[in-house]
Amino acid sequence: MARDYYGTLGVGQKATDQEIKRAYRKLARELHPDVNPDEAAQARFKEISTAYEVLSDPEKRRVVDLGGDPLQQGGGGGGGFGGAGFGGGLGDVFEAFFGGGAGGASRGPRGRTQPGADSLLRTRLTLDECASGVTKHITVDTAILCDLCTGSGTNGDSKPVRCETCGGAGEVQSVQRSFLGQVMTSRPCPTCRGAGETIPDPCRKCAGDGRVRSRRDISVKVPVGVSNGMRIRLASQGEVGPGGGPAGDLYVEIVEQQHEVFVRDGDDLHCTIRVPMVDAALGTSVSIDAIIDGPTEISIDQGTQPGAVAVLRGHGMPKLRSGIRGDLHAHLEVVVPAKLDSKQTQLLEDLKRLRDRDAAEVVTTGSQHSGGLFSRLREAFSGR
Ligand SMILES: [Zn+2]
Ligand SMILES: [Zn+2]
Repeated sequence: MARDYYGTLGVGQKATDQEIKRAYRKLARELHPDVNPDEAAQARFKEISTAYEVLSDPEKRRVVDLGGDPLQQGGGGGGGFGGAGFGGGLGDVFEAFFGGGAGGASRGPRGRTQPGADSLLRTRLTLDECASGVTKHITVDTAILCDLCTGSGTNGDSKPVRCETCGGAGEVQSVQRSFLGQVMTSRPCPTCRGAGETIPDPCRKCAGDGRVRSRRDISVKVPVGVSNGMRIRLASQGEVGPGGGPAGDLYVEIVEQQHEVFVRDGDDLHCTIRVPMVDAALGTSVSIDAIIDGPTEISIDQGTQPGAVAVLRGHGMPKLRSGIRGDLHAHLEVVVPAKLDSKQTQLLEDLKRLRDRDAAEVVTTGSQHSGGLFSRLREAFSGR
């Protein structure tokens, strides 16, 4: 959430550099640690110094006026993956969901300036994009600061006035009879909607809201190793609040598309390879278009059994942050030919004669549970 630097100095968003400097000096005189050693005053002194540092720098002030927070952008650290830049190409089709910006019921006028709502939108990524990282250009329908009134909501030099309905309190009371007796109810003033003031001459562009709806292009740097459901937080890239309040955060949720070959399980990938019976018996190798690595050979051992799994270490997905890769599991399905011509039948008949010990066999429960080990040993020692 962007901080309210103007509020900290007690100046409006249209204050001149002179006014900002004057406001800072006045507060600094009161709060300077030499004059006012108490802890609260020192914390406040720090705050006003930060606010002044930001607002006295035209570049930083511009970011604030766009609803951002120059001290949060590119600061790195937890959560966000760095600031998203403006501009970039047009987005794909994205669904955007906007949270309600309703404030909680509190005592007294809440002021017209409210923090903006956080926004959530989803972006579809292919498995390859999750594996390699990507910069996504997305278009978001959001609320930005009104550039005509820079958030004040007023037209020209006109000023807000105290609300006549609530007298500036922001709420109105009514007494109702109920089975509990007389109950006094407070509710937000319907005229000023709790702000305590109204704008008799509102801004022509935003009608007093201080913000306007607009499409914005944002580029989001998606790191290597993200997976379905993960959210990337872009600090202060959400909606600007009513009255030009600080922008909320924008969350971009990853929706991973199904891959046509691979199924992802964390950092491991699984795929199924159909191996003809003869190749399973003789051994072979299969080329697979692996994620990141491209064409990769998987060798199928001689005598591969149905259900065997060939594991390629380090050919899975990269882990978020570390980039260490999981494994690729190729599940081998042995396919028996369904139709044979006379020559093939003859060849298999010959093979059968050569392997006259092979016969269909009912497996007893005992040997099943001892893990097929007995049957494999028997085969190994039976000779050919
Ligand atoms: Zn009112
Ligand atoms: Zn406006």
